[in-house]
Amino acid sequence: MIPASDGLYFGVAGVPESCPDDSSLKGLDCLVASGLEAMELEFVHGLKMTFETASLIQEKARQQKIRLSAHAPYFINLNTDDPIKRMQSQQWLLKSLRLATAAGASDLVFHAGYYGLKNPEESYESIKTSLVEVMSIARSERIPTRLRIETMGKRKQFGSLEEVLNLCREIDGLLPCLDFAHIFAREGRVNSYRDFLQVLYKVERKLGARALKNAHIHISGVHYNQTGELRHLNLTESDFRYEEWLQALYDAGVRGTVICESPALEAEALMLKNLYASFQYKKINSEKQR
Ligand SMILES: [Zn+2]
Repeated sequence: MIPASDGLYFGVAGVPESCPDDSSLKGLDCLVASGLEAMELEFVHGLKMTFETASLIQEKARQQKIRLSAHAPYFINLNTDDPIKRMQSQQWLLKSLRLATAAGASDLVFHAGYYGLKNPEESYESIKTSLVEVMSIARSERIPTRLRIETMGKRKQFGSLEEVLNLCREIDGLLPCLDFAHIFAREGRVNSYRDFLQVLYKVERKLGARALKNAHIHISGVHYNQTGELRHLNLTESDFRYEEWLQALYDAGVRGTVICESPALEAEALMLKNLYASFQYKKINSEKQR
């Protein structure tokens, strides 16, 4: 088996594809067997997990040294015009944070919402107000799980790289989830070593070097058109230059977790882990030769 990564930890969104059982608890066993180190618990269709199960997951992940994160429900929309729905979305986010904490997940990723009829500036202000309220309640409850706003792939969704970084800069404690498939599909042609480094330097410029030392990253291939993301693809079947992308992460010294969301899940997460290890070996060997 490949040794545990130093720097970046690789894992999958949800239960590994090859796992015969689709429970998160069994998923952890399958994950370890496949040689991976991280898993994102999927609360995306609602919070169906009980707190009892969450604590069993926490225990098992700790024993197996698996890094856990979680993903909040897709139906959250902090930019809705309906004040009741907005409040419900805030509640869902808080409930997700509490459940993520019970499961031992260090980070909770969420999609902020849709622009709807609002312009980007109005959307920014409305989402900011909603998030400040959520963060203040989370702080008063001393919830340790960090909230991560994701860069989104569809142009009708709030969450360009710029918007995400500006919000994280303004709201104390809010961190980004950098989805490079989404950035690629939305911002157009962010698909070379240089482009990837530019994204990383932008993150560093806006949020400080710390943001790269504790990053949370999503990756997959992506099918897209002028509206942005259409669906996920396997990296190996897409035009995304994942070798250059991973080299850029390595060279920029990014640390944290990489969650693979391509349909092949663990097969591609493992491919990325191997590729990353090959960069490390190359560096060690070149230092030896000096
Ligand atoms: Zn997401």
